[in-house]
Amino acid sequence: MKVAHVVVDVPAMQTDKPFDYRIPEKWEEVIVPGIRVIVPFGPRKVQGFVTGIAEASDHGKLKTISELFDLTPALTDELLKLGQWLTEKTLCFQISAFQAMLPAAMKAKYEKKIVLTGNAEELPFDLAVLFSNTDSLSWDEAQAHDLFSSLQKQMKKGTLEVVYQVKQKGKQKKVRSIEVNGTAEAIETAAREMPPQASRQKAVLDFFIHNGLSPMSAADLKELAGASDASIKSLVQKGLLTEKWVEVYRDPFGHRTFKPTKSMPLTREQESAIAPILSCIEEKRHEVFLMYGVTGSGKTEVYLQAIDRVIREGKEAIVLVPEIALTPQMVDRFKGRFGSMVAVLHSGLSTGEKYDEWRKIQRGEVKLAVGARSAIFAPFQNLGIIVIDEEHESSYKQEENPRYHARDVAIRRAESHSCPVVLGSATPALESFARAGKGVYKLLPLAKRVNERPLPEVSVVDMREELREGNRSMFSRALFEHLQARLERNEQSVLFLNRRGFSSFVMCRDCGFVIQCPNCDISMTYHRQGQKMKCHYCAHEAPMPSSCPECTSEHIRFFGTGTQKVEEELARVLPEARVIRMDVDTTSRKGAHERLLSQFGEGKADILLGTQMIAKGLDFPKVTLVGVLAADTMLHLPDFRSSEKTFQLLTQVSGRAGRHDLSGEVIIQSYSPEHYSIQLAKEHHYDGFFEREMSERKLGSYPPYYFLAVVNVSHPDLLKASGVMENIAQYLKQNTDPYTKILGPVASPIPRIKNRYRYQCMIKYKKDDKLIPVLKKVMDRYQQETAREDLGISIDLNPSSLM
Ligand code: ADP
Ligand code: ZN
Ligand code: ZN
Repeated sequence: MKVAHVVVDVPAMQTDKPFDYRIPEKWEEVIVPGIRVIVPFGPRKVQGFVTGIAEASDHGKLKTISELFDLTPALTDELLKLGQWLTEKTLCFQISAFQAMLPAAMKAKYEKKIVLTGNAEELPFDLAVLFSNTDSLSWDEAQAHDLFSSLQKQMKKGTLEVVYQVKQKGKQKKVRSIEVNGTAEAIETAAREMPPQASRQKAVLDFFIHNGLSPMSAADLKELAGASDASIKSLVQKGLLTEKWVEVYRDPFGHRTFKPTKSMPLTREQESAIAPILSCIEEKRHEVFLMYGVTGSGKTEVYLQAIDRVIREGKEAIVLVPEIALTPQMVDRFKGRFGSMVAVLHSGLSTGEKYDEWRKIQRGEVKLAVGARSAIFAPFQNLGIIVIDEEHESSYKQEENPRYHARDVAIRRAESHSCPVVLGSATPALESFARAGKGVYKLLPLAKRVNERPLPEVSVVDMREELREGNRSMFSRALFEHLQARLERNEQSVLFLNRRGFSSFVMCRDCGFVIQCPNCDISMTYHRQGQKMKCHYCAHEAPMPSSCPECTSEHIRFFGTGTQKVEEELARVLPEARVIRMDVDTTSRKGAHERLLSQFGEGKADILLGTQMIAKGLDFPKVTLVGVLAADTMLHLPDFRSSEKTFQLLTQVSGRAGRHDLSGEVIIQSYSPEHYSIQLAKEHHYDGFFEREMSERKLGSYPPYYFLAVVNVSHPDLLKASGVMENIAQYLKQNTDPYTKILGPVASPIPRIKNRYRYQCMIKYKKDDKLIPVLKKVMDRYQQETAREDLGISIDLNPSSLM
């Protein structure tokens, strides 16, 4: 008899271990670890992962596996072990760890089919009959014919393959495209002659004129030009525009052509950086490198050449890039070098597309996976290198279960494959730089930009001073003059507005009352579109009040600066400037991000205005000015990493200027210009920042001096939430190491979200073997209540944010 150890899809403490099931004789050869099966569990049937096979079981009467779910293991042996490791490191259930490593298409209920990929004549008789006049077979049919073991043999040979067919949920394949009818002159004349009551129609024409008359989907036109269906319709009736239905493509990168590139001769600095990586690859050794190089110092070229070596050796590579830096520009650099050997995994892809990319990796059709955080689980079996670009980025930490950090997973996987990890950044995370200082990571410095181009000149403008001297605009005089100069010289500028922790709230000027969400203890955000207020935590919406609910004053209005408001202000003070705005509103549509950037790259605008999403990875030769509108919005968040994040962001943004022949300038506007993170960013002085910030961290007992863990409790009843937190804190104090610091309980920085009260307690520790088991006991103790009484408990080890 053969027995399978199965981890079932029931995420609960009691079921968080493998259960033994009998393998039916006919499947003894078929079922291997990593395959998913359906098993009886209590009164139900559930899915589960086979984690091991045994000849016998210690348990008495065993139930039998009811159905097969895979013929090729969904998880390799290495990934199964990695899942177990994730469980221990992040305190999540094994099943959650396994699920997290698979693409969404494999989690959801998609139609599964077996398709013919090879020659039907090679099939044995029993299968040949089924595939005689079709090239696909449904999973159920295969099951009914009891053919899994011969199917599996054919799959290994490559004649057959299992595919997940994603059901298209009435997805639109065609869009309404609007094109201009006539020459530029004709349209300009028509725009000029529009009667004043047709101002919206005029705006649409003006928009086309600004965008070089290129066709645009009606949806984008409405979003970007503020066009209405009525105005489009009138323009079509006047013969100025034409409507067409055109097909849209699913793969945003699929129809691009990639300019092939070749390895460049490396600079001396790049040579010294790549040498230890190459010898590590050659010696099949694991090591972690921290490539610390200013923006434009040629880090990416070093990655490319190290990966090239790995691929020549017949191995594979993973490159992680922060989601917002996963721009077509970035992807082109990898596809340009490695062509069709590259799979790209990012959130812009649909579930089906992501699964397709994953499948290419699993089948060994590609050698390199480039993607955001979860690409770290790419199912390669012979990894030769893992690269994490912008390794300091907080998006590498997953903020839900399993709460893993991609850097830790990368190091773990590279250990199993005996290969190097290369972490790259101009502003490494404090933790990483400290580890390099201790020799845990090997530091690879790149001090100079390629071709010794100077870093841009940065100046900091004190906005309080501006106000004192009567300038109430959001642009300082210096920034305004510099913007104007760029317009005259026909150069481009980037304006960056940091929106994190900073939104346009609605306040009464008379009594100071701020409109808050009724469900969450957080102010609501004003949205110009539709004149309404929205809560960004629970999506509650309310109309903008015309008078103050507190004192009935009519002087109630929104404060804060959104990109839309900056755009309006720009139109007022620099009406001749052509502006492209990039924020969540203008880029929500698929492909919009790419289109706006290529428009800017083609010189169709003078100013690129945007949020976080323009801070990284962009490389435009004509950009010679970068303006940061409000540098310190993040500084005052209740988060011990706020200075570090501010420094990183300012350095990152500054790196967008003067990357090519023209030299660049940066202007940072700030209300606290004396703050060290701003001053040191101005001087491009990472080492100075590191030292200063390390002493702050030491004083506050924060990482990297201490490890951090946060326990969060939430419940609709305030007393219940605080009571449970109090009990947990007491229990932790009594049962952990005496040197471990338990702080709290305190109300969370946002004390209520979606009508749930939130309490937290922070744990600071250096070495505490008791902590993890104790935290597990806490989860165990409240297991019943979390299910029955709607109690929320979460534990975050090494949190990246405390909000
Ligand atoms: P980073 O990733 O550190 O920001 P990049 O690799 O993007 O730096 O390099 C910056 C610019 O310098 C790019 O345009 C790149 O093509 C170019 N570059 C990099 N290495 C070399 C080299 N060895 N010789 C010539 N140009 C190079
Ligand atoms: Zn009021
Ligand atoms: Zn809310």
